[in-house]
Amino acid sequence: MTVGAIGFIGLGNMGGPMAANLVRAGYKVMGFDVAADASLAAAGAGVTIVSSPEELAGGVSALVTMLPSGKHVVSVWSALVPLLSPGTLIIDSSTIDVDSARAAHAIAATHSCPSLDAPVSGGAGGAKASTLTFIVGGSREAFEHGRPILSRMGKNIFHCGDAGTGQAAKICNNMILGISMIGVCEAFALGEKLGLSQQALYDVAAVSSGQCWSLTSYCPVPGPVPTSPANADYKPGFATALMLKDLKLAQKAAETVSVSTPMGALASQLYALFDRQGHGNEDFSAIIRFLRQRGAE
Ligand code: NAD
Repeated sequence: MTVGAIGFIGLGNMGGPMAANLVRAGYKVMGFDVAADASLAAAGAGVTIVSSPEELAGGVSALVTMLPSGKHVVSVWSALVPLLSPGTLIIDSSTIDVDSARAAHAIAATHSCPSLDAPVSGGAGGAKASTLTFIVGGSREAFEHGRPILSRMGKNIFHCGDAGTGQAAKICNNMILGISMIGVCEAFALGEKLGLSQQALYDVAAVSSGQCWSLTSYCPVPGPVPTSPANADYKPGFATALMLKDLKLAQKAAETVSVSTPMGALASQLYALFDRQGHGNEDFSAIIRFLRQRGAE
């Protein structure tokens, strides 16, 4: 299926470079953001900025939203989807709660528009380099329709199942990540006090049963993995505030379906405390400092 102009709502840290990559791929992109600076930056990258979302409704055959939270997505889709031609593909790539994602799909279905929840992993660097991973929920047909667009903004594209399963996979993965990072940090904090060098612990655990991504790709102490944010004073990377957002989404989802996730709950509480101490803009692996400090109290 061919795609004409693409509408893009939400041109911030992620949406801006994603829209720019669609322009680079040859699409006409019509964009809107409530923030003037985001619109200006996107215009510089070749996005045609419109003065209201309604203005782009008649002229696009696909729409992408990249917004802060579920309430923004549902509000934008509620206002805009009724104005789109039936058959227009709608993709939301924000990280939002599963219930809002399913509510957005329902709005699209009411107006005969195929839709995808397609949250991403890879951060602003991946958005710029078009190496994002898209984690997608929606019908197989909508997925195949959206794949050519997503492939211009990302490298790995996974279809996880029906509506909402993209968001479900994203928050389940990030709950594993939050928990495993705290586990790795605790092990380093304990090892240090037991007279074990960080490198020795790394060398053993990296090839033993403690091996995990938080250790071998994102080690929270400087040295063993030169590319990890610990080597750059915990400049993100993946900011604590965003990890906390995802852990809260996982907790909300767990409550909704009455699933017990005690480790996820504790990880969420620890990141909330760390965030409240003013560390929201630091990489999430900096929580090792917080754990060491608690030991010293
Ligand atoms: P951002 O705050 O930089 O961008 C969001 C943009 O949406 C802003 O420019 C804002 O002005 C705009 N906006 C808000 N309400 C709007 C509305 N009603 N109409 C039009 N525009 C509106 O955030 P971001 O970092 O680009 O993140 C966007 C989404 O991607 C979030 O859901 C976030 O959790 C997710 N995400 C971010 C990262 C990351 O590393 N930044 C990584 C993965 C996923």
